[in-house]
Amino acid sequence: MDLDDRQWTRIGEETVEHLSRLIRFDTSNPPGNETPAALYLKQVFEREGFTEMQLLEAAPRRGNLIVRLRGDGSKRPLLLCAHLDVVPAEPEHWSQPPFSGLVLGGEVWGRGALDMKHMVAMSLMVMLLARRQALPLKRDLIFAAVADEEAGSDYGARWLVENHPELVRAEYALSEMGGMLIPLGGARAYPIQVAEKGLCWLQMRARGRPGHGSAPHADNAVVRLSEAIARIGDGRRMPLHITPPVASFIRTLSAALPSPKGILLRGLLNPTLARPILDRLPPDWAPFFRALFCNTVTPTRLKAGIKTNVIPAEAEAELDCRLLPGFSAEDALREIRTLVGPDVELEPLKVNPGIAFDSDTELFRLLSRTLIAHDPGAIPMPYMISACTDARQLARLGAIVYGFTPGQLPPELPLLHMVHGHDERIPVASLHFGVRVLWQVVREFCV
Ligand SMILES: [Zn+2]
Repeated sequence: MDLDDRQWTRIGEETVEHLSRLIRFDTSNPPGNETPAALYLKQVFEREGFTEMQLLEAAPRRGNLIVRLRGDGSKRPLLLCAHLDVVPAEPEHWSQPPFSGLVLGGEVWGRGALDMKHMVAMSLMVMLLARRQALPLKRDLIFAAVADEEAGSDYGARWLVENHPELVRAEYALSEMGGMLIPLGGARAYPIQVAEKGLCWLQMRARGRPGHGSAPHADNAVVRLSEAIARIGDGRRMPLHITPPVASFIRTLSAALPSPKGILLRGLLNPTLARPILDRLPPDWAPFFRALFCNTVTPTRLKAGIKTNVIPAEAEAELDCRLLPGFSAEDALREIRTLVGPDVELEPLKVNPGIAFDSDTELFRLLSRTLIAHDPGAIPMPYMISACTDARQLARLGAIVYGFTPGQLPPELPLLHMVHGHDERIPVASLHFGVRVLWQVVREFCV
């Protein structure tokens, strides 16, 4: 049965109420403390007659809630996965208390409104609707509200995948981030995450001759390390690479933009033009685009010396290096080595390869089609994010994972400033839009 506009208004209001309630659970990670929020969700599901659910704690107070709605088994499951934890807020910089969940001026305020309790609330509503409407599911529909995404997933997705794989194994999963309107150069872009970069954290060490600070000499580890860091600089000398998800992102976006913007952007796919174009992009866009084309490297930590008058024998820096999908730590080390020269040692501290999912799938086409059905000007496009999400964990069980948390933000609420920033909030209208889009996707894909 199709729902009418009046029913959708009520469903949107319910979504807003659940999001407000969820924001009021302070799940700042550390320490996380996700269990009370997971319990709240569990009670909602129980009230609505759901029977198959598990609240699992990977450690005290680190709750994960998994709920399953059975299909006839003719197709493999679809998983809706969202994390319950949030990054800490600095309340003194907020205009409203960050865990208020206040609805003010048509917006729901609070930490997690966009990262990503909105998706918890929308997925919850879609589950409830699927049951209320007695949707004849061909595949199981799984809801997972997980802990600890913001601190590496050890008590959330990673733990579930390693300890309870049968609960979260799915053919496809929808998780963060993507499906949100981002006005890009005038186009109504809806990037859908199909890939994420990996990471390769490195230690860089210089050695030298120790001595008295009153007698400078040329074999100083601090100076040697500093010179290597200066050669890295802002990283713009790292080689450029065109990877398949970025190529399709650039092709789709450039086709949507009027010239000369579109032509200029398309030039990024031309190996001889890419570097001069990147060098000429406005400063607020250049790092974003450069990260799509490079294994990036950023010096972030320094350690040297014990006393002002002692020249130390060693100096160390840590480098945050991010890998394009398809590149190994060795590839990145080779590239960094050509920048820093032979006088420093480089050693990997932690390595996670990047991942890329096929975007030529039935589900990806459905996501695109559904966005266009609800926003005729929408330009959906595959997209790669530079950070890590739970997608890499879910992929270990064979799932194809797309970042898809549909919504619409006005230009004055830029997604990238709000996520992990101050005054995080989401328009009520975005939740009304998002829950309808998500429902249509689930209904068409699972029935
Ligand atoms: Zn997140």
